[in-house]
Amino acid sequence: MTTLVMLSGGLDSTACLYKLLLETDGPIHAHHIRLINREGRARAEQDAVEAIVAWCRKHLRPFRYSESALDFSQLEAIPIDWMAIAYVACQVAIDTPGCRRIAVGILAADLDETRRRVSESQRRVFDAMYRYYRARKLGEPEVEWIYPVYALDKAAVAALLPAELRAFAWSCRRPVTTEDGYRACGECKPCRKRAEVAQATKLAL
Ligand SMILES: [Zn+2]
Repeated sequence: MTTLVMLSGGLDSTACLYKLLLETDGPIHAHHIRLINREGRARAEQDAVEAIVAWCRKHLRPFRYSESALDFSQLEAIPIDWMAIAYVACQVAIDTPGCRRIAVGILAADLDETRRRVSESQRRVFDAMYRYYRARKLGEPEVEWIYPVYALDKAAVAALLPAELRAFAWSCRRPVTTEDGYRACGECKPCRKRAEVAQATKLAL
């Protein structure tokens, strides 16, 4: 049974991949979606993912890795991430022999009532699409969504990760372009949360 890990390059999905590679021995397929939109965070996330994948392969165990891209950069609105993830997870699950589990890095601590519904909606979107493949006799009969870091809060996620992986993981939604690349804005919600966790845990983040 293969587990597909949807890897954004943030702390939570990185912890998800790390935990599964460390604590399970079944095949893992990590997949990153280059979500290109007006926020301009695709480059930073991809750099993070490349470093994370290389580190995990070197220090943990081999696994399959793939990428896809959704380019919405010419739209005014910013499309909803969880729908893109459900859509892509469906295509990748079909492409992954024996894929019976999909892992995503959602934390219970981050879930209010609205986001809990989002998580259910994400599975429903996936199920609706997956049925069309099953009608063609493709894919596994059952696919379960798992949440390996669900019980952790952000501080526990940060503490779980080795320092190098923590440093690679990217959180900022609106990176600022600089002369030699980009930097975190320090102002968006994930940036502020990361700073708060760094201060509370005394970890370099
Ligand atoms: Zn930011």
